Formats: sequence, structure tokens, C-alpha cells
Amino acid sequence: MDGNIHSIETFGTVDGPGIRYVVFTQGCLMRCQFCHNADTWEIGTGKQMTVSEIVQDVQHYLPFIQSSGGGITVSGGEPLLQLPFLIELFKACKSLGIHTALDSSGGCYSAAPAFQEQIKELIQYTDLVLLDLKHHNRKKHINLTGMPNDHILEFARFLAEHQVPVWIRHVLVPGISDIDADLTALGTFIGTLANVQKVEVLPYHKLGVYKWEALGLDYPLKGVEPPSADRAENAYRLLTAHLQGGSLLQET
Ligand code: SF4
Repeated sequence: MDGNIHSIETFGTVDGPGIRYVVFTQGCLMRCQFCHNADTWEIGTGKQMTVSEIVQDVQHYLPFIQSSGGGITVSGGEPLLQLPFLIELFKACKSLGIHTALDSSGGCYSAAPAFQEQIKELIQYTDLVLLDLKHHNRKKHINLTGMPNDHILEFARFLAEHQVPVWIRHVLVPGISDIDADLTALGTFIGTLANVQKVEVLPYHKLGVYKWEALGLDYPLKGVEPPSADRAENAYRLLTAHLQGGSLLQET
């Protein structure tokens, strides 16, 4: 089984617990204004790699990874666009005792029976989902990402219903996703999910701007500066205000 892969990072430290072998898949349906991986958007390109190639490679790093409490993370782009590949990869990793994490925006989540069958199989081999919730307000979500958020919130509820451990991630963009009323609404929504182990506030940064320029695209957030530490703390407080008992609270 082949996957379309953008790149691999063998020593990731920010995408899940411990040291991570991070596979960035190629292809995404969303167009987030703050995206720092715009070169992963195009679907069907990237390097074709088989599950066995990746599994053989990850084994070189297992001593480091496993002594750190780490594992493999599949990020993107949007990994769920390649569900059959992902199922086979995570199944193979679990058979070797490797911790598996999926970093997803849920942008292609669907209630369609074929998708449901595959996602239900995938979560059997998934230890953790890093779920990006970009905005609670539907209209502002469309402005920010090019897509509505109904199916993304549905994906969050699906993961809660199936008790898949989740870390919620929220990119904090001044004037766009850093508005108290919207953060409060998102915090209230997060409080309805019993499977949230951690909330991460990711302050907006400009590290991927050069990729937009290289692709000949206009960068939409010109002039927007990263948020202050105070605003990041405020966001964390609002997003975790209703977390259910037993959740593991950690700020990053
Ligand atoms: S979902 Fe991720 S990869 Fe896709 S546009 Fe948004 S930030 Fe970029």
C-alpha cells in the first residue's frame, strides 16, 4: 500500500508525547490563512512510499523513540485523505508495539458509510488524536480556512463517543482566532468532550510565509504579529475552563 508523503521528520518533539517519528502526508482540502505547510496542499503529489518502507525506517529509531515514551505521528496536510494507507501503517506499528498518533484537522471527516467504516477501523490502532480546532464560529471558520466547521465538530464528537484520547490544538491568531467570546464558546464545546487529555494553544507564527511566496501565493495575514504571552495564557484559561474531571491539564 502506497501513501503520498510530503516529508519525514525522525526526531519530532512537538507532535505528541516523547520523541516522534513524524510522517507528513501530502494533500489537504483546507486553506488555512496561517498554514505553514502550504506546500502540502496539492493532492496526489509528493513521494510515493509504501507502509513497509516507513515501518522499516521507523525501526532504526525505535530505541530513542521508545525510551522517551514516544512513537509515530502522522500529520500533514490531512492524513485522513489517505485512510486505507493510514490504517495499514498504524496496524503495522501497533503490531510492533509503537505508540500511534494522528494529527488531523478533521477537514475531510464524513458521515458517509464508506468513510465511517474506515475511520472506525483506524481508531482501533490509534492511541492519540491531535485534533486541530481552528474556530468555533462557523462563519469565521469559513473565512479562516475556506471550509465550514460542522463536520469537524462532528469528528470531535465521534472521537469522544468512541473514547479516543485527544489533545486539542488551537492556533491563536490575533484579531481572528484570539477573541474572548469565540474562545469561550470553543472552551464550552471542549467541556462537552470527555476524552480530552490536553489543550495546546499554538501561538501564530510566520515561519511558513516563505512557502506561500515560493508557490506564488499572496499571504493573507501580512501585518499580523504573533500574540503576546498574556493572550496565550488567556486563551488557555478560556479553552480549559470547562474541562471534565480527570483530564490531564498541561499548557504548552
Ligand atoms: S489543515 Fe493544516 S495543512 Fe491544511 S491548510 Fe490548514 S494548517 Fe495547512
